[in-house]
This record gives sequence, C-alpha cells and structure tokens, in this order.
Amino acid sequence: MPKFRAPRGAADILPEEQPYWDFVSQQVERLCRLYGYRRIEPPLFEDVGLFERSVGAETDIVQKEMYTFQDKGGDTLALRPEGTASVCRAYLEHGMQSLPQPVRLYYLLPMFRYERPQAGRYRQFHQFGFEAIGEADAALDAEVIDLSWQLYRAFGLKGLRLALNSIGTPESRPRYHEALRAYYQPHLGQVCPDCRARFERAPLRLLDCKQDAALAEAAPRSLDYLDGESARHFQQLCRYLDGLDVPYTLDHRLVRGLDYYTRTVYEIQPAQEGSQSTIGAGGRYDGLIQELGGPPTPGVGFAGGMERIILNLKRQGVALAATAAPRAFVAFVGEEAKAVAVRVTGELRRAGVAAALGLGDRSLKAQLRQASATGAAYAVILGADELAAGAATVRDLAQATQERVPLGTLAERLRAPGSGPSSL
Ligand code: ATP
Ligand code: MG
Repeated sequence: MPKFRAPRGAADILPEEQPYWDFVSQQVERLCRLYGYRRIEPPLFEDVGLFERSVGAETDIVQKEMYTFQDKGGDTLALRPEGTASVCRAYLEHGMQSLPQPVRLYYLLPMFRYERPQAGRYRQFHQFGFEAIGEADAALDAEVIDLSWQLYRAFGLKGLRLALNSIGTPESRPRYHEALRAYYQPHLGQVCPDCRARFERAPLRLLDCKQDAALAEAAPRSLDYLDGESARHFQQLCRYLDGLDVPYTLDHRLVRGLDYYTRTVYEIQPAQEGSQSTIGAGGRYDGLIQELGGPPTPGVGFAGGMERIILNLKRQGVALAATAAPRAFVAFVGEEAKAVAVRVTGELRRAGVAAALGLGDRSLKAQLRQASATGAAYAVILGADELAAGAATVRDLAQATQERVPLGTLAERLRAPGSGPSSL
C-alpha cells in the first residue's frame, strides 16, 4: 500500500489528459487575444479580507469553502477561491485607472474551494476568466458575453444554453427583496434548510433552490423590479446580443451565488443537465472596485470551469490527438555503439527530432520491441558495422524497410516533413 494519495478533491492531471488541457487553454488564449484581452496572473493566496469583502459574507465561498490559514508572521491568508477579486485588487494596486478604459484582462488559474468532491466538483480546480474594467456601457457586457459564447463554440461543444438575467443595482434591490420575502413567507416549510436560513439576508438565493423548482418558477421576477437605468441597460444589451447573433434565454431564476454582481448575470449550461450543470458564469460588478477602496469603477467579467468543460468534451466524444510519440528510437549493440547512441540521440534532439534511447544492456530485439511500443516512426540501429561505416541503419517501423544513412545526414533524413530546424 502506498503511504500517500493526492488530497481529497485534488486531482493529478496525467499526461494522457494534457491534450484536452492544451486544447482548451489554446482556444482561451487565441480568442482572448483576438478580443484585445491581456493575460494577468495574481498570486495563489491573498489577504482573506479581500474575498470576504468582495465575494460577500453570505456566500457559500466565504461561509464554508475557503482555505484559510495563518502564516508564520501571523497574517491570515486564503487560497484563491475565484479570480475576479484578485484581478480587481491588482487593477487598483497598479493604478490601472490611469490606462485607457476599459482595461481588458484574462487569466487561467487554479482555484481552491473546500467542497464535497464529486464528478465535476473538486477542491482544487481550474478556471479561465476575463474581466473588462472601467466602463458601464451595455456594449461591453455584449462583448464579454459574445467572447464567452464564441469560446464555447470554439471548444466544439454542442447544445449549449446561454441563460441571461438582470438583477438590478443595490439601490433597486431592496424593493425586489421585499417582494421575494412576501412571496416566500407562506412557503418557508417547502424550501430547504439552507434557504430558510438565507430568507432574511439573501432572499435572491432562494430562486436557486433545487428543492422546489415550481415555487421558484412562479416567484416575482427581478426584471419587473429594475430601476429605469438598469432596465434600459438590459434592453440595450439584448439588442446588441441579437445583432451579434448570440442566442440567449431569459431566465429569471438565474441570480448567481456571489454578492458583487449588479445588473447583468449569465451562465453557460451544457445540454446534459446534472447537479454540476453550469460550465461558466459571469456578469457585471459595478460596486466591487469601490468596495475594495477604489473610486466608483464599473466592471464586467466571466469565469469558466476547465474540468467541467473537459468532462463535456469527453461526453460529447470530441476526440483530440494523443501526445506525440518520438520520431526516432535509437538502439545499439555493444558498449562502443552505446556511447555513439547516447551522442547521436543528443544530436537528434538538438536538431529538433524527438528521439528516445534504448537503455540498459537489452538485446537488439528487445530494444526494437520497445521502439514499437513507444510508437516511434523509425528505429536508428547502431552496431559494429554501422560504426565502422560512420553510419546508422534506419528502419521504418511501419513499412518494415531499412536503409543505411551516414551519421552526418541522420537528422535531416529523420526530420518530419514540414518540420523546420530546431530553434534551440
Ligand atoms: P456551482 O453552482 O456549481 O457551485 P459556482 O456558482 O460556485 O458553481 P462560479 O463561482 O461561478 O461557480 O465559478 C465559475 C465556474 O467554475 C463554474 O461554472 C464551474 O464551471 C466552475 N467551478 C466552480 N466550482 C467548481 C468546483 N468546485 N470544481 C470544478 N469546477 C468548479
Ligand atoms: Mg459553488
């Protein structure tokens, strides 16, 4: 029995998983750059107060999911549970208000939440996200939503749903809260204990309750309680999204679990429903920067869950090329030839040819079996005859043909068609 396992809810991302991770990250980087977003990478841990302040004291994240610890200097820190708070902190800390607004940033980062692990729900997971800070225009909400949508299309996922809502501003919300409390009061026996506890301080969250969907469906709708400005903002957004051909579904039960959202909220949900259905979510957070001690500064952003996207890619059978096998496997017969094989393998690698080397003192036959097992295209064989001729025998493992190639032209002979010289 091994003595250690990875901590519960934390997974090793094994080599065979990497093609999925590379693919998703590459699409994120490509599209974010196309839309003018620049990468930012905040530290893994922050002052715990940053998250309490921004994400909100009533949220699941702050109440039960944060990895909080005291360091040796006595500071209380938390492993980052989400990205927006850190990005906004960095925006203020580095005086990005003085840059042309909005400032567009994106990230790809591990996140930490102490949750009950299950499929698509981990304690260490990864999010990509983007934030556009410093502008309240609904056209910017449309840009961020369009970027999210195009990204999920680029992943090749089918049957996605984009759910959209507006939850107004802190000024308009008390009136909506009142309406919700009045509606739910006689039904408190029907909702889950969590929701009963949230009824007073966070009534929006009751709309999210999985226990009684019909009850939530008939609840008062935030769109009917918007202030004039927010209503106009939402109308403009819908119009811009129509123009961009981004399909959305109005969903009045969509409220999001984080306190900092104002006006626009949205989610991307996969075709196959489940308890971990959302694969990305975002919205506007016009009060957040001020909450962190900055001047009033609007912002809008999105975060997507890498693990859940990859889960859906696999479910939908999106196939990705496996990690590349070596181009050449260098085999040898005898100690003298082995010394040359070590050198030749190094030379091939420096010339940009992926090469593997037979190890130990296995027979040529065993080495050739190994060569086939690695998936190499060619075996490079070095024995006494080859050494005497300053050449190698190159065997095409698929065709079972072979030829003599002088060592000086080996790299050139083995280089894959179309692959240029090494840039090292
Ligand atoms: P959920 O309701 O599923 O807990 P959330 O509202 O907490 O999600 P956000 O904070 O909006 O999620 O995070 C954005 C995205 O990050 C989610 O849509 C999801 O894809 C992913 N995500 C969130 N929590 C986890 C987790 N514990 N493990 C894996 N992915 C996660
Ligand atoms: Mg959550």
